[in-house]
Amino acid sequence: MPSRIHLDRAAGTVEVVWQDGHRSVYGATGLRWLCPCAYCRGEAGMPGWLDTGPSLTADQTRLVDLHLIGNYALAPEWGDGHHTGYYPFVMLRDRCPCPDCTGRRTVEAASATATSATSTREGSA
Ligand SMILES: [Zn+2]
Ligand SMILES: [Zn+2]
Repeated sequence: MPSRIHLDRAAGTVEVVWQDGHRSVYGATGLRWLCPCAYCRGEAGMPGWLDTGPSLTADQTRLVDLHLIGNYALAPEWGDGHHTGYYPFVMLRDRCPCPDCTGRRTVEAASATATSATSTREGSA
């Protein structure tokens, strides 16, 4: 769970400070690419809009608002009106773009591909 969430519209960033003190700052464009909604990601094996590799417009990467969904997710609202992507906190923490976490993921990805070629994209909990 985050202890602090701050949307900076001017900078186009979302800052999350986690309960363990870790701080994550997400850029709007990176966040839009992570959108987990059915439209962007696809469902039932169908590719989503983001899977087609669209070039995002300025509106589509402009953060307008940020909504807290219960105590488990964030729902950003974008300049093009898209707001159906619920970003679970666990996913956000998992995708933290800071150098520490990026480095950790690189190591994990390398060992994952070395040990298992059949693991799913989400992995096992
Ligand atoms: Zn979406
Ligand atoms: Zn991090």
